Amino acid sequence: MSGAERRLRIVMVASEAVPFSKTGGLADVSGSLSRALDRAGHDVVLILPDYPALRQGRSEAAIVNGTGLQFSLDMNGRAVTAGLNWASLPDSQVRVLLVSQPEYFDRSHLYGDTSGSYFDNCERFCFFSRLIPEICRKLVLQPDILHCNDWHTGLIPALLNTVYAGTRGLEQTASVMTIHNLAYQGQFQDYEFPLTGMPRRYYNMYQMEAWGHLNLLKTGLSFADQLTTVSPSYADEICLPENGCGLDGVLRHRQSDLVGILNGIDEQIWDPAADPMISANYTLSSRASGKATCKQKLQEVFGLDQDPTTPLLGMVTRLADQKGLDLIAAGIERILAAGVQFVFLGTGDARYEQLLSALPRRFSGRIGGRIGFDEAAAHQIEAGSDMFLMPSRFEPCGLNQMYSLRYGTVPVVRGVGGLADSVIDYDGQPGTLDRATGFAFREYSTDQLVQTIVRAVASYRQPDVWSRLVDNGMRQDWSWDRSAAAYLQVYERALQSVSSRQQAGRS
Ligand code: ADP
Repeated sequence: MSGAERRLRIVMVASEAVPFSKTGGLADVSGSLSRALDRAGHDVVLILPDYPALRQGRSEAAIVNGTGLQFSLDMNGRAVTAGLNWASLPDSQVRVLLVSQPEYFDRSHLYGDTSGSYFDNCERFCFFSRLIPEICRKLVLQPDILHCNDWHTGLIPALLNTVYAGTRGLEQTASVMTIHNLAYQGQFQDYEFPLTGMPRRYYNMYQMEAWGHLNLLKTGLSFADQLTTVSPSYADEICLPENGCGLDGVLRHRQSDLVGILNGIDEQIWDPAADPMISANYTLSSRASGKATCKQKLQEVFGLDQDPTTPLLGMVTRLADQKGLDLIAAGIERILAAGVQFVFLGTGDARYEQLLSALPRRFSGRIGGRIGFDEAAAHQIEAGSDMFLMPSRFEPCGLNQMYSLRYGTVPVVRGVGGLADSVIDYDGQPGTLDRATGFAFREYSTDQLVQTIVRAVASYRQPDVWSRLVDNGMRQDWSWDRSAAAYLQVYERALQSVSSRQQAGRS
């Protein structure tokens, strides 16, 4: 921290964070950004729901202590109480506060199971959000910044500016709302509005209502002092009607307060030189032999033909429409005809699970994979594959392509959102080889996907070219320190807007 900067008190609020809970990238970001802000010299408290069932088996998250504090809220006529636990975020001084409300949070999943979203998600996350100002008050946290993430926490900026306006300890607090994925908005029926604890007058199309529903993400976007999303390209894309998921109007209205900051990656967890989950560790210089060992093991574990010369294409993903699985399903025979093996790991929508799980039998020895969430297997696929596939329909940031680059696995992606900002296409021209790190296509079509895989295989067959691409990728900087510096600039702007608002109020 430079002398001119002051130590900020930052409260980071999210519905999930590694190592306590995780369904996707949000958990990586909230955990790693908190740690990077702590490293930059700031005072960070991370507040999460406590999901006891999900902590089990994660030794680094197992030590959770009670604070003895109790909170109670009126949830639409019903008194609901919660306890507060605390823990530490490993390798940091970040304090983690966990809202313990077993009726809401002691479940097998975070947001829903195979039969769909939990029916009471509005109630669960309104409760969680409404406790945040109460926790700040009771623990005298006096945050400079309340950093909210995704719809689960969208109510908080609204509470801060209305119900809690002028509350002692929160008068100077600025709020920042980060969109990790605009497709998930927390839309609920209007009769659930009383759960928010907000006066009814805010249920209007400029603040909390969108297209006839209560919309918790829009609520956050309307009230927060500054908005961010997870890549510069996605920040531009979501202001357009075709990508705005119905909220492009509010985003255009607030475009001058919206900044895209590419996520970093956790360089300790995702480090091929020290990763305990992969078969051989390697660095830039030892990657040829290290990756060969990892590839051989991956082929063995997933029942693929043991052939070091066949390019191996990996994929680790949530099985959701967003991820371009329909392109893969339509083009699988042509993809294999390009001469690759394919290995997948994923969990999610039942129809994609069925579709993918049939492939290893149909294409024995050439396709391997597993339905499930398995961190070790995700690391093994990143390390052992030659190429990593992400043909996303849209991708706010994407983390896997950055892990791939670090692991010397060349990404093959659709060039949208964070994929466009992090993968530089190799177009076959010698001039681009200085910078290129992967292969990208633009049009969302099976033809484009197949052609891009064909291009990648052609480069794989030219060892000098391939080696340059791998080198370029492994040399990139994806540290969270770089992203944290950009967030700190946003925090400063948010604080300025609070102080201008206060000055305007006084004059
Ligand atoms: P999203 O947040 O849209 O799911 P990202 O690429 O930003 O996509 O982040 C996904 C994260 O979740 C990565 O850390 C990835 O390794 C992990 N992940 C996704 N699916 C699985 C799975 N089935 N098993 C293990 N890890 C997974």
